[in-house]
Amino acid sequence: MRSHENIIEDLKEELQVVYNEVLELAPQAFQEKLSLCSFNATKQEYILKKKELIDFILQKVEICQEPNDYQVSPRGYCPLCYRGADNAYDEGFIISEGLIRHLKGSHGARQCTIIKALDKIAQYYINLQKAKNA
Ligand SMILES: [Zn+2]
Repeated sequence: MRSHENIIEDLKEELQVVYNEVLELAPQAFQEKLSLCSFNATKQEYILKKKELIDFILQKVEICQEPNDYQVSPRGYCPLCYRGADNAYDEGFIISEGLIRHLKGSHGARQCTIIKALDKIAQYYINLQKAKNA
């Protein structure tokens, strides 16, 4: 019979595969940056790489709604997951604050699925390195 430890290890591996598949849902233009970001980074490296990634994403966002009488800032959909704010009246997210909140999952915003998967993969490697160094 397989031990609980073996079952847990298998599940961890499967979860990593699923997270990797989620990353592959991102557009091609982001694939290289995403993989560079997530694998074998220390926590400090990951924080820096993720900041660079968010800057890169902000450069790539396309404006879907120009500023108008009600909105001072332009709006755009997340270039990674194509989502916009949960708001029936406007398209996309406010650039750049709304999009940043979506990418970081801050201020109660629903976090980008792709970045969430990236965080999980990075955390896996950070924990692995910690275990090795312990
Ligand atoms: Zn997104």
